[in-house]
Amino acid sequence: MARLIDPERYEAVLNRFEEHLTEFGKLKAAEAVRSLIKGLKIAPTVDAVEVVHGYTLIADEPKKVLLDRKCGICDQLMLATDNYCPMCGAMNDGERKDNG
Ligand SMILES: [Zn+2]
Repeated sequence: MARLIDPERYEAVLNRFEEHLTEFGKLKAAEAVRSLIKGLKIAPTVDAVEVVHGYTLIADEPKKVLLDRKCGICDQLMLATDNYCPMCGAMNDGERKDNG
């Protein structure tokens, strides 16, 4: 899973760093960069997964009356009312590419 940083919380970390930089005055640039990198490694993160944007197509051979659509990403049969593909999880909010 990708590691996403909460920019507002990381900004607070940088503000605390800046306070210390002013306090100690002569902090060398290399030390400052190392401190920033260290801060980045321990920065607060949020749980998130990448969203795949897909689309639905009319199924060629629907197996059941209700399963009359298929995912444009993985071809999984699905309901016309499904917002997400039950197989690959793609969010079906994209443009159809079959001119349908
Ligand atoms: Zn899918």
